[in-house]
Amino acid sequence: MMPTPVISIQNISHYYGKGALKKQILFDINLEIYPGEIVIMTGPSGSGKTTLLSLIGGLRSVQEGNLKFLGQELSGATQEQLVGVRRNIGYIFQAHNLLGFLTARQNVQMAVELNEEIPQYEAVTKSQQILSSVGLGERINYYPENLSGGQKQRIAIARALVNSPALVLADEPTAALDKQSGRDVVELMQRLAKDQGTSILLVTHDNRILDIADRILEMEDGRLARDSQSIVQTDNC
Ligand code: ADP
Ligand code: MG
Repeated sequence: MMPTPVISIQNISHYYGKGALKKQILFDINLEIYPGEIVIMTGPSGSGKTTLLSLIGGLRSVQEGNLKFLGQELSGATQEQLVGVRRNIGYIFQAHNLLGFLTARQNVQMAVELNEEIPQYEAVTKSQQILSSVGLGERINYYPENLSGGQKQRIAIARALVNSPALVLADEPTAALDKQSGRDVVELMQRLAKDQGTSILLVTHDNRILDIADRILEMEDGRLARDSQSIVQTDNC
């Protein structure tokens, strides 16, 4: 029996603008992502990748179609329900979005404290542990400005994964990094996700990292144009 998909999307369409300016951006998207899958999404700029990611992440309301996160329908969900969903998702963006006035540890710790009612010393330990596992054990008390781009993105990964979310959404996380640092951060995401059973949906233009994916999707003009292995469509009867 198939496990419950982390994400199940049926006939999602999306529009920006109103009246005469209304423009369709996503066309009838169907997609399921399963626990532990690492899915890479590619496609030209403007093809709708970020829009789709923001719908999946509960950052934007569903207009048309159905979208379930761990079986919970997001179409028609209240803001409160969306906040609950966001707690189960880790986000990594192109810009690391760290807070400059907090140290590496404090940036990660803040994510722990937003999500759980745990004693502060445990939040500290948890943050230190995950920073060590991303290779920043010697840098936990550094401020972002004193770290390299790759190191900052590794803090962002630690922050996204520290609560062991069911899903990590990453929008061009290597775009600002050189080749080797880009490679390092995706391998790190891959390792942490496999350790925790987290699913990853990662948008990238970077062909050099495609091999970390279990599955590759391609967006084209708002449509899902290709899916390297649509496991749900396999008929083995
Ligand atoms: P991608 O991430 O693949 O580059 P996006 O989802 O960002 O694509 O954008 C898809 C299309 O929607 C583009 O034509 C873009 O200009 C348009 N778009 C994106 N965000 C908005 C917005 N907030 N309002 C209006 N149009 C938007
Ligand atoms: Mg984008």
